[in-house]
Amino acid sequence: MVLVSGDGPIVHAAVPDVWPQSQDATFMEHNGPDRIIRDCQRDLRILDRHRYKRYALSPEDGDQAGYCTACVFGDYPCDEILDLAMEYEINPGESG
Ligand SMILES: [Zn+2]
Repeated sequence: MVLVSGDGPIVHAAVPDVWPQSQDATFMEHNGPDRIIRDCQRDLRILDRHRYKRYALSPEDGDQAGYCTACVFGDYPCDEILDLAMEYEINPGESG
């Protein structure tokens, strides 16, 4: 496998190339990095709309609950966030 970065040095990796170098540009062209960037920007807008908002159930005892700022009713994470998490293979129950 040969990695080429602009005019930089050619780096030989220890593992063989999965795709021949002659197909790398074609692979990128067919998978449209501009589309991938637009998809990520769209997903970030969805995340921005579907934020978690806390509110106090009882100010005296400090109990709190929360809701989605877009869906308002229902549990959080809402279905939109769960769909995004599934798309990115993220388990919303895991912290980190
Ligand atoms: Zn939502």
